[in-house]
Amino acid sequence: MLNWGSGANNPKYKRRRRQLVEKLAKKGIQDEAVLEALNMVPRHMFLDTALRDRAYKDTALPIGKEQTISQPFTVASQTELLQLMPGEKVLEIGTGSGYQAAVLCELGAEVYTIERHKKLYERARSILGELGYSVRFKLGDGTLGWSAYAPYDAIVVTAGAPSIPEDLVEQLNINGRLVVPVGDDNRQEMVRITKIRENEFEEERFSNFKFVPLIGKKGWKE
Ligand code: SAM
Repeated sequence: MLNWGSGANNPKYKRRRRQLVEKLAKKGIQDEAVLEALNMVPRHMFLDTALRDRAYKDTALPIGKEQTISQPFTVASQTELLQLMPGEKVLEIGTGSGYQAAVLCELGAEVYTIERHKKLYERARSILGELGYSVRFKLGDGTLGWSAYAPYDAIVVTAGAPSIPEDLVEQLNINGRLVVPVGDDNRQEMVRITKIRENEFEEERFSNFKFVPLIGKKGWKE
């Protein structure tokens, strides 16, 4: 008999993942492609083995360095707001565990991601590679974006910013979307900026979330 252990294809986790996705749909996630992407990514593989049994609860969990893998509902909400089309170029600020990057890959995006903690950057690189996801990684301050590959069709910030990071707005393509949680260190409002045309932007605000802080030159001070 095959021993699936806690590997990526473990049927127990597959079943739980399906149930989680059904729960996310009930909570208001409507984009079928986003739900299917979350159904494909083995979230347990992005966690320490001791936490894997909690991977399919709709909660954030620790990943070390006082950081978290975001709650699945938050990942689904941010991804839905990005309105990604396959083949679009997307920049993620805050690689963390690598889970959100994997979800973006499942949607057919070309994914670039930045993390400031070396240990998290290395671990995410390793697990995403092991799972066969093709992502470009950078270790550094994501508040400045990644100008070498700009412009991006979409940018997602997975940590809470004190204000909208201007460098990221500047790195948007025409029709590009920036999704960023903005607020104080306790609560943030999800903001979506769409670049309509050169120097013309639309700003929309959605419900409140709670993120770890975005720390950097154009974010919170350490
Ligand atoms: N997307 C992640 C995932 O799927 O696991 C969620 C990560 S966690 C909520 C936010 C991450 O943003 C943390 O790993 C943190 O170290 C990182 N971060 C905070 N400020 C940053 C910055 N200026 N540049 C890059 N990463 C940053």
